[in-house]
Amino acid sequence: MSSEVISREVKRRRTFAIISHPDAGKSTMTEALALHAHMISEAGAVHGKGSRRATVSDWMEMEKARGISVTSTALQFNYTPEASTSDVPNVINLVDTPGHSDFSEDTYRVLTAVDAAVMLIDAAKGLEPQTLKLFQVCRHRGIPVITVINKWDRPGQTPLELIDEISERIGLIPTPLYVPVGIAGDYRGLLDRRTGEYIHFERTAGGAKIAPEILLNADEAAQREGDAWTAAQEESELLSELGQDHDQEMFLAGQTSPMIFTSAMLNFGVRQLLDALVEFAPPPRSRETVDGTEREVTDAFSAVVFKVQAGMDTSHRDRLAYMRIVSGEFERGMVVTHAQTGKPFATKYAQAVFGRDRSTVDNAFPGDVVGLVNAMALAPGDTLFIDPKVQYPPIPSFAPEHFSALRVTTADKYKQFRKAVDQMDAEGVVQVLRNDIRGDASPVMAAVGPMQFEVVTARMKAEFKVDTIVEPLGYSIARRTDEASAPELNRQRGVEVFTRSDGAILALFSDKWRLQYIEKEHPDLLLEPLVAAA
Ligand code: GDP
Repeated sequence: MSSEVISREVKRRRTFAIISHPDAGKSTMTEALALHAHMISEAGAVHGKGSRRATVSDWMEMEKARGISVTSTALQFNYTPEASTSDVPNVINLVDTPGHSDFSEDTYRVLTAVDAAVMLIDAAKGLEPQTLKLFQVCRHRGIPVITVINKWDRPGQTPLELIDEISERIGLIPTPLYVPVGIAGDYRGLLDRRTGEYIHFERTAGGAKIAPEILLNADEAAQREGDAWTAAQEESELLSELGQDHDQEMFLAGQTSPMIFTSAMLNFGVRQLLDALVEFAPPPRSRETVDGTEREVTDAFSAVVFKVQAGMDTSHRDRLAYMRIVSGEFERGMVVTHAQTGKPFATKYAQAVFGRDRSTVDNAFPGDVVGLVNAMALAPGDTLFIDPKVQYPPIPSFAPEHFSALRVTTADKYKQFRKAVDQMDAEGVVQVLRNDIRGDASPVMAAVGPMQFEVVTARMKAEFKVDTIVEPLGYSIARRTDEASAPELNRQRGVEVFTRSDGAILALFSDKWRLQYIEKEHPDLLLEPLVAAA
């Protein structure tokens, strides 16, 4: 494949994730985006239903029961912006992130696979804890952020209040592309700040269809909307005076954020969001390798595994590794090399993933997410490539704060139990710690959030038919240590030393006072902090 073809494919791609606090409307927005991309003809699975429902991005039983998204999905769709003069559509990859903070490690991994993020905020609630955490991850990784104020059809704060909150609390300067006409709870349309025109939205029954738009000039808008239009114009002028107009360089540098007001439920502002993604979000770029060089998007094929997941298909148990393509063209069936083991990996069973339905993917380009079936050897952070060899930096694992022993209670299922533990370890569902004293019968699970343990026990039962019990241990803090320090640490009260499956030696402490005491009494021991959760 020529590099011109790859360049062209890269240029039309956008890969992003939505970061939000639970309930801000991520599922509803995902469905609205699918509607605008004509992937579905009618919104309904999520739209307007307060109680739990099946969405395109939900599949595990547990997700349904809890009403949260545990797993990550990639959704790919074609989209042609209204103003586009090209006859080739854009290709949008939306990578789903789990909403609950207990799965922040998963989210972190997902965010290594995207080029931009949409920060979705509930107009009434403003910045919420999980949004803040995820935003910090984006900032840390230099991911540009588009801000969406959702639920504008419901009473909420004023645009200026929300803008102030965002700039003051996180130092990100919103640069609204549009100003809403009508206060929160009375969403009539948008003032396009670049053209000065008014886009009026018409409601559809139950928000099931794309909302028809009526384009009016300023005079017509003033006539139609009166004070609401004047207020929007004043807000827009004020923002310009404050210098809060879109600036592409500052956006890419993570200093400003184009802002859009939406109602995911009524499908208002959704087209504008898609257009903004195409116009402003960066296409896939080169990536830094472990030796500090850059792999260009047009170089030979390479990809990073960012998520490994099993048990989505209850009819036949399988294991899917998601890779994000970094460079080159991927063709199904090609044999690539797994950088971590140096072994060949056949990609006969590559799949594009759209919620529960899977379709075979024949070729893919940088920015695309491809699922590899039965990828037993692959773990998050691994690199796949075609020569020349390349390896990308590993995804750091978070410092766990919850530790529990896992025990099997079904007597004759020990072998199954071991297999299950290894699999969940490899997938990164939890970190698995072992030591000689506890032995293999009772490995210790380390997690960022305790809900990860529930995923383990639920999957043990559903996929491996193994009953297990989780016994919380009295530890709350982990430090990286070494062979030399281990014996002394093991002699201390309230401390236990383990080996993690990646070979790291970790010492667990009952609490931070215990740790501080030991650090003071034994300054010679190696006790390094782990990467903290965002
Ligand atoms: P998630 O947890 O972020 O995926 O949020 P959901 O998409 O499940 O939405 C949470 C609740 O907010 C649901 O009851 C939705 O119907 C509702 N919702 C989502 N978007 C909007 C919106 O734009 N307007 C209104 N009024 N409700 C919305």
